[in-house]
Amino acid sequence: MTKAERQKRMSEMDAGIRVCVKCPLHASRTHAVPGEGPVPAEVFFLGEAPGGKEDQLGRPFVGPSGRLLNALLETAGLSRQEVYITSCVKCRPPNNRTPHTNELDTCQAAWLSRQLELVHPSLVVLLGKIAMQRMLQDNRSLRQIHGQTIERDGRLYLLTYHPAVAFRVPETRAGMEEDMAVLKELVAKATA
Ligand code: URA
Repeated sequence: MTKAERQKRMSEMDAGIRVCVKCPLHASRTHAVPGEGPVPAEVFFLGEAPGGKEDQLGRPFVGPSGRLLNALLETAGLSRQEVYITSCVKCRPPNNRTPHTNELDTCQAAWLSRQLELVHPSLVVLLGKIAMQRMLQDNRSLRQIHGQTIERDGRLYLLTYHPAVAFRVPETRAGMEEDMAVLKELVAKATA
């Protein structure tokens, strides 16, 4: 598929996400939050679900977690303009609860799988447990395995915490910074 075709399909998909009513989360959202970044892209960041600020603005990672993500990207020598960023579900769950399995399944089948196809990354950074369970069916504790990579279906997945965890457990920030140093090396290798 050409770059132009990928980009055209992605804008059609973004438009579909904005009016999606496939799962109950649409009922309480202000704005659906598709994804942002270049198509195709080498690096794909996957979060959990939009929060309050994202719901207001219709853009991923623009609240407190987003500010931390921006700082982490800098540690990895990357900018937001270079990476694709989205979440497992595209609509904010009420009171920021964890998305339910049926919501995650529906959103993955309808949108996330196709976003991954179109962005065609070689590296996927999984931000937190929900993203890790979704993509790798892995339920281990990130405390033990953050910073590790797992190869699956021709892609490398890097496991790290969700940035929001750093607000509850400040020690995780240092771990995330270590993981971003791993990412920096992986990107250097992939683009060498
Ligand atoms: N957390 C996420 O997982 N995604 C966002 O867009 C914002 C916060």
